[in-house]
Amino acid sequence: MIRHNFEYRAPREIEEALQILAGAGDDCAVLGGGTWLIPNMTFAAHQPGIVLDPKHLGFASISECGGEVVVGARATYVDAMRSPIAVAHLPLLVSMARGITGGISITGQGTIGGSACYGNPSSDVPACLVAMRARLRLRSIGGTRDLGASDYFLGKFATARRSDEMLVGIVFPKMTSDVRWGYYKLKFSTGSWPIVTAAAMVVNDCVRVALGAATAVPILTEMVLPADGGGEPLAELAKSCASISADEELVDELAGPGYRRRVAHSIVLRALEQCRGRE
Ligand SMILES: Cc1cc2nc3c(=O)[nH]c(=O)nc-3n(C[C@H](O)[C@H](O)[C@H](O)COP(=O)(O)OP(=O)(O)OC[C@H]3O[C@@H](n4cnc5c(N)ncnc54)[C@H](O)[C@@H]3O)c2cc1C
Repeated sequence: MIRHNFEYRAPREIEEALQILAGAGDDCAVLGGGTWLIPNMTFAAHQPGIVLDPKHLGFASISECGGEVVVGARATYVDAMRSPIAVAHLPLLVSMARGITGGISITGQGTIGGSACYGNPSSDVPACLVAMRARLRLRSIGGTRDLGASDYFLGKFATARRSDEMLVGIVFPKMTSDVRWGYYKLKFSTGSWPIVTAAAMVVNDCVRVALGAATAVPILTEMVLPADGGGEPLAELAKSCASISADEELVDELAGPGYRRRVAHSIVLRALEQCRGRE
């Protein structure tokens, strides 16, 4: 049960929603699927004065726009899995969505946008968005801005979204058929949070790896592969993509000091091997 009083608003026009956000700032929480927000309000860990429900505003579809795909902020993991557009053009995102735990009550209700707004470093979404060069589309009464995922995630539960901004969509460059990709994560059990994740893409002669959950924000490494194609052994490549300093490493109840640093390169290696398997 939620014990504090709050105002529930479900405007029918985006302008009204943005006015509410501009006026309330931090006191207003936008409702996604509510899988994080509602439990936290129940435990009184978060007590917004206004809950803004964008359910009448759209932003739930997945659509193509030229060489890009726009995933509406309200699109759920299941929406991504069922979207022919996402399946065809964003296979890495779909693979990540398929690995989300919690059953249909989470995957059918939790949104990719909500996860991006939450900014939990242990979640699956941040590294995928960084590796895929996604842009977060943020709207306020002042206008719309797109922010690259690498600039958007700022720290543990911290993003560059201002309190007067609503996330309306996530824009992804289409992954063409020659792009090789891999997504691998380490968890202790089927239902546990990821300990370390790795999202990898090989585009032409360039390899791009985002290491997630190991540090407060994903670490992005981009490298040009040697022209002879054989090049650096995969294990060496994985090691350089997974180097984390002790200061940066996340330490929590799931993994003590040194653990994520020790396992990171194996996780990257597995993601890179998946890329090779798709050659
Ligand atoms: C049992 C369980 C299992 C889970 N398993 C996994 C897992 O395997 N991997 C993983 O990565 N995550 C996992 N999660 C986390 C889950 O992915 C997130 O809770 C979910 O994606 C958040 O999305 P939501 O739509 O429910 O967000 P909400 O709970 O509605 O919102 C989260 C935050 O984002 C803000 N917000 C939401 N939408 C917007 C918007 N459009 N604009 C501005 N702010 C917004 C809200 O105000 C709130 O602060 C799990 C959660 C549970 C409860």
